[in-house]
Amino acid sequence: MSSNTYAFVATMFSLLFATANAIVEDSFPGNAWRAVGSSFSSMVEVSSYSPRVPFWQKATRQSDVLNGTQESWWTSSPFSSSSSSSPVNPFRNFNAWVNSFIFPESFASYLVASLGPDAAHYVLCYMRNFVSGCIIYYATAGFFHYRNYVVDKENLFSSGKRKKPTTATIMNQIKLAQTSLFLYVALPVFSDWLIEEGFTMCYYDISEIGGFPTYLAITLFYFTCVEIGIYWMHRTLHENKFLYKYVHAQHHAYNTPDTLTPWASIAFNPLDGILQASPYVFWLLFIPCHYLTHVLMVFCTAIWATYIHDTMDGDVEPIMSNKYHTVHHTHYIYNYGQIFIFCDWYWGTLKKPAGPTGTGLKRKTK
Ligand SMILES: [Zn+2]
Ligand SMILES: [Zn+2]
Repeated sequence: MSSNTYAFVATMFSLLFATANAIVEDSFPGNAWRAVGSSFSSMVEVSSYSPRVPFWQKATRQSDVLNGTQESWWTSSPFSSSSSSSPVNPFRNFNAWVNSFIFPESFASYLVASLGPDAAHYVLCYMRNFVSGCIIYYATAGFFHYRNYVVDKENLFSSGKRKKPTTATIMNQIKLAQTSLFLYVALPVFSDWLIEEGFTMCYYDISEIGGFPTYLAITLFYFTCVEIGIYWMHRTLHENKFLYKYVHAQHHAYNTPDTLTPWASIAFNPLDGILQASPYVFWLLFIPCHYLTHVLMVFCTAIWATYIHDTMDGDVEPIMSNKYHTVHHTHYIYNYGQIFIFCDWYWGTLKKPAGPTGTGLKRKTK
């Protein structure tokens, strides 16, 4: 494994652990913006929410609350207001809190006055997702571009074995990705609506499902189901002729190592991106998942998507590194998985490249 790959994996894991630690310690500074009369505050006040808890927790929770031995989950939330008698919706509260850092109060007030607090909230969430989606795309693709095509340029391309992608290819990918982002970022708005309205099994505080060991086990189960869901969604996008032709083929126009770049990560039909990310939302309906962990997973997936398109040869088994996804683009019928190689191994579609992927692989089928 190269030192670059080590550094990348180490950074990802430290980010994950730092965030998990912050969640466990319940140290999120939630009340910062909740001034009386704030437009963001009014968006939270209007939301109706009845907390959903896993069935095995319900009996204990209610009896504990009745006996006064345990605070109800919403009053122990770091976002809660002690003066409020109604439970604060912690998911909506969190989203409004994040939005308050990005948009000025005057703009929020204008939207509340014109659209009402509910629509204003989701318009702000959409705009926030669009802005952050653009920042993540340009920052991560820019980082891998700089590393491969500027810092490592001599090393990678001077021998002439590996062809450098043309500026036209990169511009084509940026245009497609930027266009897709307008629709693609609507998916997390939809999932936030589902979560805030209580249609999912999402929970906000780890204590709601009985502590850290349960949190770890159920998060692993959720992530496994997401991984399997994405594998089969991606495989269906290939095996169903209609879906392949009209939805997924656009992303597979980049089918040689020199037409594949970090900028291709979200260069797809937006419906393609929405379908492939949909297991993250679908399983929330049935499996309890910690809200901020879910947000972090989606964030890491966005970075991951850029990494696997850079046609380098990362060696991080059993993680499905960039070399596997290069093979997916050149051969079409292998390596449908997202982050791990397990699904491809189990269902017989795993293909490990024998040598460097950036020089030897040619387009094979279709
Ligand atoms: Zn594909
Ligand atoms: Zn791809």
